Amino acid sequence: MSRDRATLARECQRIDGRGYPAYKDLRGAFAFEGFTLFIDHVQGDPFAAPSKVRVRVPMQEADFPVRWIEDRVCRLAVEDFVARAIRDAIVAEPGDRSGSGKSGVIRIDAGAQEVLERSAVKLTGGWIEARLEVGLPAAGRRVLGRKAESLLCETLPRIAHASLLRASLDEDSLTDFVSSIENQEAIRAQLEDRELVAFVANGSRLPRETGASDRPLEGADVVAFESPEAFEVVFEVPNPIDENGGREIRGMGISTGTTLIVGGGYHGKSTLLKAIERAVYPHVPGDGREYVVSHPGLVKIRAEDGRRIERTGIHAFIGSLPGGRSTRDFSTEDASGSTSQAASIIEAVEVGAAGLLLDEDTCATNFMLRDARMQALIHRDHEPITPFVDRVAELHERLGVSTVLVMGGCGDYFEAADQVIAMRDYRAHDVTADARKIAEANPGERQREVEAPFEVPNARVPAARSFDASRGKRAVKIDVRGVDHLGFGREDVNLRGVEQLLDTSQTRAIGLAMHFAARKLMGQGRDLRSVLDALDEHFDRESLDFLDPFARGDEHPGNLARPRRYEIAAAINRLRTLRVDSQ
Ligand code: ADP
Ligand code: MG
Repeated sequence: MSRDRATLARECQRIDGRGYPAYKDLRGAFAFEGFTLFIDHVQGDPFAAPSKVRVRVPMQEADFPVRWIEDRVCRLAVEDFVARAIRDAIVAEPGDRSGSGKSGVIRIDAGAQEVLERSAVKLTGGWIEARLEVGLPAAGRRVLGRKAESLLCETLPRIAHASLLRASLDEDSLTDFVSSIENQEAIRAQLEDRELVAFVANGSRLPRETGASDRPLEGADVVAFESPEAFEVVFEVPNPIDENGGREIRGMGISTGTTLIVGGGYHGKSTLLKAIERAVYPHVPGDGREYVVSHPGLVKIRAEDGRRIERTGIHAFIGSLPGGRSTRDFSTEDASGSTSQAASIIEAVEVGAAGLLLDEDTCATNFMLRDARMQALIHRDHEPITPFVDRVAELHERLGVSTVLVMGGCGDYFEAADQVIAMRDYRAHDVTADARKIAEANPGERQREVEAPFEVPNARVPAARSFDASRGKRAVKIDVRGVDHLGFGREDVNLRGVEQLLDTSQTRAIGLAMHFAARKLMGQGRDLRSVLDALDEHFDRESLDFLDPFARGDEHPGNLARPRRYEIAAAINRLRTLRVDSQ
């Protein structure tokens, strides 16, 4: 490599005052002392999305332990920690935003409360690399060469030294972080054998700061979680969790089967469910939910009227519709609350969900139940819905799919429940036996309304031709406006109802994964489940790199986070152009 720091400084001075496109001369690699700077993409003008750069430090300098690099969980934890350290280092810089547009901006795509596999930092045996966005400085549309020199040759090296070398990171925080993530994943790996779908450690602090913030609620009023004695389980973890070297964590086990969370309004039911819902991912130490750990196959289900449904067999929940329309192969451009909920359940089971999470707050009432009086008034022949209450036990018995359900308003679920947790003043109690006694003493007038057993959903075969990522002159146009809106070609995929999608970088990765799957994996009668199996294999083998963001030039390789198969499926199912071929 012939170009070095001095070359870059000279180049910056040379183009000072010239038109903005002169910055394109800076593309390429520059050898600095202790690292290499890659300028991959130069923005078209100061107002466009910032330029993309990478800073790569050889492992001899960065010096992360081999075990952390080779072990997948530790590696992800280190990458995540370093991305956060870089973000902190950026914040600590005085910065100079005095130029026009995005001049002087420095960004890294670091995480929030959850730890996701992301592409912002990459750790390999040979090096560690940070992928950053920088706004190259300009006055109007003229290059500010001196400012560029200071940004690229001084600020970036300072950030790199503060965060990409193990020696400059806070040793204790780093070790705690990696140990905690490793412990969380060790618990997750044991859940299935222990026949649990989730674990909530004693001492967890579940409530969040506000409805709009995912940070922990602080203060003396927060009630720390304590398991009811009957549900208490103990997990052994690989790293000590206290000063005495203790490695046992106690807490509430939520068993496979059907679990009800009951209790009065405002007593903490939804807060508990939300914690379980988020716990498919690890959390940062200090989150309060770091030892809430869920089975990775739990899927939140909610009503979502207006969504599209493509050829889904929802007949287990919705029988023939007005006019005798069949629901074995049901499509609509505008689902109702109940049909949307039925479809979301079938779609989740279709791609292998291990459990469903439902909260009465976001469910369609008529989907959840139909009481005795309504059964008497509206005859079965005029009501297509088989309520969830009549299917929930069967879902587990026949398909092995568990359910955790928040239900404060209806006791008709008591018969179906294997475990009933009551929340009272934010404290959990075991009321399983009481609920059973009540169910026996008041046998209820309602009839179970099931005509045929629950079948395994049809395996649908997505048609590759129904995925078109092009728009105008662009062969691939995938853009993301917030976590809930995926622009895919000319389509806008609305993901508002997909509550476990957490990060815009996951949304972006879903768009790319859909495009990749349509081009490379679909066809030859391959059903959706096996398309997702193949995608997961790519993610496991090649991390996020197979999505190949470099090939498209304008997209940053550091802006991706790994989505789960359930969220990818959810996006595919909500793509309005999706077509499914007959088998
Ligand atoms: P529910 O679903 O039972 O109606 P929520 O879970 O929505 O109740 O909780 C109601 C309020 O109580 C929320 O503002 C939440 O932040 C707060 N809260 C929940 N759990 C706790 C707790 N353990 N300690 C303190 N406040 C809590
Ligand atoms: Mg609630």
